[in-house]
Amino acid sequence: MLTRLRKARAVLALVLGGLLLSGAVPVANAADGLGDPVFPELGNPGYRALAYDLAFDYRGDTRTVEATAAVTARIDRALAELRLDALGLAVHAVRVDGRPARFAIRDEKLVVTPERPLRRGRTARVSVEYTADPRARLPHTAWVPTPDGFAVAPQPDTAHTVFPCNDHPGDKARFTVAVTTPDGLTGVAGGELTATEPLGDGRTTRRYVSRAPMATELLQLSVGDYTVRERTGPHGLPVRDVVPTARAADLEPALSLTPGQLAWAEDRLGPFPFETYGLLPVNTDDPAAFGFTGLETQTLTLYKPGFLLKPEPAIGSHMMHEIVHSWFGDSVTPATWADLWLNEGHADYYGLTYRYERGWPDDAGHTTLTDRMREVYRQGDRWRREAGPVAAPTAEHLFDDQRYLGGALVLFALREKVGEETFSRIERAFLTRYRHGNADTRDYVRLASEISGQDLDGFLGAWLYGRRTPPMPGHPDWTVG
Ligand SMILES: [Zn+2]
Repeated sequence: MLTRLRKARAVLALVLGGLLLSGAVPVANAADGLGDPVFPELGNPGYRALAYDLAFDYRGDTRTVEATAAVTARIDRALAELRLDALGLAVHAVRVDGRPARFAIRDEKLVVTPERPLRRGRTARVSVEYTADPRARLPHTAWVPTPDGFAVAPQPDTAHTVFPCNDHPGDKARFTVAVTTPDGLTGVAGGELTATEPLGDGRTTRRYVSRAPMATELLQLSVGDYTVRERTGPHGLPVRDVVPTARAADLEPALSLTPGQLAWAEDRLGPFPFETYGLLPVNTDDPAAFGFTGLETQTLTLYKPGFLLKPEPAIGSHMMHEIVHSWFGDSVTPATWADLWLNEGHADYYGLTYRYERGWPDDAGHTTLTDRMREVYRQGDRWRREAGPVAAPTAEHLFDDQRYLGGALVLFALREKVGEETFSRIERAFLTRYRHGNADTRDYVRLASEISGQDLDGFLGAWLYGRRTPPMPGHPDWTVG
């Protein structure tokens, strides 16, 4: 995501200091969640999700969604009850391996009690029938209602307002999604379209498969009066954009930039990690529905359409930021929300590099990455004080500049320390080793030390967790304001 507007909820969160580097894993009230450092209540212990098979049926008359979510889970310890995250879903029935199960909703958990406890080591399929209302008022929600349907923006902690799930980025799974709509509307989801099935009653079902595992926060699911525009990316990569039909012509100049941007990113980061890419400029610019500009939902980036109507120098850097998330965030997903800088720092680092290479000055008039980083460096101590160290965010300050530009500054410092060529090898090795999996801050630090042949624990530890901004290698004249 690239946002300066999103208002995160104020939640008491753990500040970790150097704990992560020393290997301590914080667990806060694991009975209610997985103990994530930022959102301890998210996710559920005792099982891993292997696959989600989701079916959504959008009703044009009520504008609600009738849905079935089937979760295939591997049971890691004996469970008398299995919990899924869920909020705002009217649950009608739950089955475990085809047999009716009791269920209850407690806070943001759907508590499922099967006939018999689930044994460790087995696989269970939990199927939930429910109704969701994209326009429901909830304390937090992923739904983005539009005049003709909806899209979803589940990052960081609201996928469970769309489907019951183990809503933590550390538990990635395979997805199939079926979307049924009245004819005249189009249902889309991330991944590859595998079937379009007219039902013969004025409705059509479209089926999508995500072949690589996906974090729940990266699901995209949208219904609207859309036109699908197909084009070709580097080495034949299928690119499909999903655009509001009425704005398709106006948006074409921005959409046509994607293949060239993908080629630039591949030169630096290696082959694009998914089966397809594209943009979804959803059919609303309403700031109440949409408090940010773009979100890297896997293979189909959500966008506020008005933004993409601007000229290339005003949007190119942002489009690159979102493309780079396909590698950093979507393929390699942070193990916890404390590791968000791995997403946003990398996305900003390459987005800005792309900008200055093209000679597009930023809003403050900087024309090189070094000039911009010097300016960010000046803010270092203030950001550490107000928003926490780069790799120790709080929920209230999760999406602050510190995770974006502050994260980019850490990468810049590493590059200045080890040199461009070694930095590039670290980046490639990280993306290869953790492809389609999870990585945390320790993994990145360890790999940087391994590839560079230097012990970078102390150096990166100070940059990532320190309360004071360390000296910038090669720039002894840089000062903190
Ligand atoms: Zn981002």
